[in-house]
Amino acid sequence: MFKLKNQIQNYAWGSKTSISELFGIENPTNEPQAEIWMGAHPGGCSRHEENDDLLSDIIAQNKSAVLGGYTESRFGELSYLLKVLAAHTPLSIQVHPNKRKSELGFSRENDQGIALNDPTRNYKDPNHKPELVYALTPYKAMNGFRPIEQIICLFDEIYIDELHQEIGFLKQEPNSSGLEHFFSSVMMLSEERKGRVLYQLEEAYNKPVSNMTREAIEYSQTFKKYYDGDIGLLAPFILNTVELEPGEAMFLFAETPHAYVQGTAIEIMASSDNVLRAGLTPKHMDVPELIDNVVFTPINPEDLKMLPVIKGSKEHYPIPIDDFGFDILHANSAKQEQYVRSAEILFCVDNNIVVESQGKVVKLVPGESVFVPCSAQMYTYQGEGRLARAYN
Ligand SMILES: [Zn+2]
Repeated sequence: MFKLKNQIQNYAWGSKTSISELFGIENPTNEPQAEIWMGAHPGGCSRHEENDDLLSDIIAQNKSAVLGGYTESRFGELSYLLKVLAAHTPLSIQVHPNKRKSELGFSRENDQGIALNDPTRNYKDPNHKPELVYALTPYKAMNGFRPIEQIICLFDEIYIDELHQEIGFLKQEPNSSGLEHFFSSVMMLSEERKGRVLYQLEEAYNKPVSNMTREAIEYSQTFKKYYDGDIGLLAPFILNTVELEPGEAMFLFAETPHAYVQGTAIEIMASSDNVLRAGLTPKHMDVPELIDNVVFTPINPEDLKMLPVIKGSKEHYPIPIDDFGFDILHANSAKQEQYVRSAEILFCVDNNIVVESQGKVVKLVPGESVFVPCSAQMYTYQGEGRLARAYN
């Protein structure tokens, strides 16, 4: 067991204050601190705090002891990436392909000779990328298609004449094939029609409307500040908008459009970088590939949040895949035991927590993390505050 030294990613959309406020990680150059990465991903591998060794090297030197036999044979690497993500401005609307399509797409683009760093490349690895976010501050996002009757109701209220025909078709076919037709037509509007649609949308911003429509308009207006002219300005009328309170979580399934809008959260995901974009981005968008990777099934707003199963002082999230597990461990004055079946990363969310394993004692303050190899078999934790626990 050892403390980790983690890389901070300074992406432009990141908050300049949130990570330093929550975790006291200094930001002397006033750069956006978008993400802290905890894991062995080559895009930002953590290091052993004392000897500076890369976590990926430590794993490679003794895979079966560090990862455990199951993870070694099932994944061959650390199967998850744990992050803190602090969004000041909205991130692109995105969809992650499922496992089978990731494998096919990755080998197809390899066969076509498209370089891994080519900006038109869709598949950077053969993995799926399900995600869970656990909010640390109020956290705004979009997740999944709204129920079709809501989409119709919203478009009736804002009334974009240019989309008269597309909405009419959705009313006739209020099912997943109607939704696919509607979404595809909107994504593939000619530049000229898109211009008229966005002009009429802007005019609708000031109409007297219901609360649901007003909320969607507010999201759209936020997006307009950063992505004027982007088709993603229509997304809040098509996708569920959701605001998590601190301590609430949601799961993001493969093949489901989603976007992070604002706030700071812990995020855990399978170790993958496969992203197909659907708006709010100056980056490459491959619309036919996107449509092929979207499941056109609405999600009820009541089903968006993932509730933990509470076992004593542990909140266990019932993740429907085996790439990662996620728990929140609440420390208290009693020493609590946790058994280990894979490599784990523990991240101290607040206060002070002492973790002990194999005779080694590590004191964690907020923002610090520790790596526990599978061979440790167990650890104890004690103190005050929450530990975010990543494992698989
Ligand atoms: Zn995502």
